[in-house]
Amino acid sequence: MNDTVLESSPIVEAYRQRTPGSAALFEEARSMFPSGITHDSRFLQPYGIYATKALGSRKWDVDGNEYVDYSGGHGALLLGHSHPEVSAAVQQALEAGTHFGDSHETEIQWARVIQRLVPSADQIRFTSSGTEATHMAVRLARAHTGKSKIVRLQGHFHGWHDHMTSGYNSHYDGSPTRGVLPSLAEKIILLSPNDIDLVGETLASDKDIAALILEPTGSTFGMVPLAEGYLAALRELTERHSVVLIFDEVVTGFRVSKGGAQAHYGVIPDLTALAKIVAGGLPGAAVVGLREILEALDFDVTSTSGKEKIQHQGTFNANPVSATAGYTALSIIETSKVNETANDSGEFLRQGMNQVLQDMQIPWAAYGEFSGIHVFTNPESRPIEPAAFDPLSVPWPELKGNVSSAVIKLRLAMLTNGVEFNGWPGGTISSVHSEADLNLTIDVFKESLKMLRSEGEV
Ligand code: PMP
Repeated sequence: MNDTVLESSPIVEAYRQRTPGSAALFEEARSMFPSGITHDSRFLQPYGIYATKALGSRKWDVDGNEYVDYSGGHGALLLGHSHPEVSAAVQQALEAGTHFGDSHETEIQWARVIQRLVPSADQIRFTSSGTEATHMAVRLARAHTGKSKIVRLQGHFHGWHDHMTSGYNSHYDGSPTRGVLPSLAEKIILLSPNDIDLVGETLASDKDIAALILEPTGSTFGMVPLAEGYLAALRELTERHSVVLIFDEVVTGFRVSKGGAQAHYGVIPDLTALAKIVAGGLPGAAVVGLREILEALDFDVTSTSGKEKIQHQGTFNANPVSATAGYTALSIIETSKVNETANDSGEFLRQGMNQVLQDMQIPWAAYGEFSGIHVFTNPESRPIEPAAFDPLSVPWPELKGNVSSAVIKLRLAMLTNGVEFNGWPGGTISSVHSEADLNLTIDVFKESLKMLRSEGEV
């Protein structure tokens, strides 16, 4: 994925000039962290910025540079950085105690607001991360059905545990990635996205399938969107074949709409993995779903039924500080129009960026839905109209095949001009990105493309 070796160039040099403090910290970090980083998505050549502060839509680095931020805490910050109400509630929670090792009222308040918002949230079990939530969802599905295999869609991401490594950005044939047991990888069936007939045939022919899991707006928050009607068809097929349908709403939950993608599309899964926004910007996650499935975690029910209980510990499950942040953030989402605001901003930004591409006659496209933005950099040089680009018209690997020196330089040039995008390239938009932020981003996109053009990249 990160095979491109970046050569020095005026863009790279301009970035280095602006970020000497980040460069120095990166040198130190390299001696202790693999690649100098602590999350693969933070990999950037020659190095990423080192942040010191973030507020609203903005972020600052150690060199004092200010950025309009679209990484949004890896998508966790629908309300922007350090939302005043969330921060104040967290301050109070910190003073009350960071870990009780007991149950507490805030976990109930947190669960209640999740239940009010997420249609499938009959029962809830908190975890610390989205990875843990999808891991537990898979185990619950196997326990419930007594079956062993899991169907996944190529390109969809569900965290990094052993069931989820093949087929996200490599090993699309389902072969195990390095360090994963072949016997485990054999239980994962990877299907091409949007081929509903293939799902039908697979579920009909293999009676050992416990669950089907997917990102309900398509992989990487709609980088590869789902075809219309696909979700509803999956619901019908999984029900017909008694396969547990799991939505991974780690990104889409509380972002696509207050109730996530399931509320927006009216397709209700059996289990849902929630993380990121659910915990208001602090670590925290949950698996939610049908009582009859989550009952496998219940001491009384399993003791009565004689079925083995699924064990589940986790030192930081429903940690009181995360619970407070989550409850406060979700209460704001419940009672205001933050989703609509962020979604409108997404549309505004995509349109503005496409206008730039059109004006500069660059055959790329800004696309996406809701509060997400993706830049298609057209690796196969197809003739496209930016504003009319339909991502479903190109083979999905092309949408994910965006890594090139042009993409890296786009990110560096945008950082140099004061905007941080993710490596997709693209990002997520918060409800506090102002029109001025969005207009500035469009200007920066244009400036950055001019810099790329002068290096023959576009
Ligand atoms: N599922 C999806 C769709 C995600 O985007 C992510 C994180 N980017 C995860 C699962 C894993 O969540 P976490 O990083 O909290 O383990």
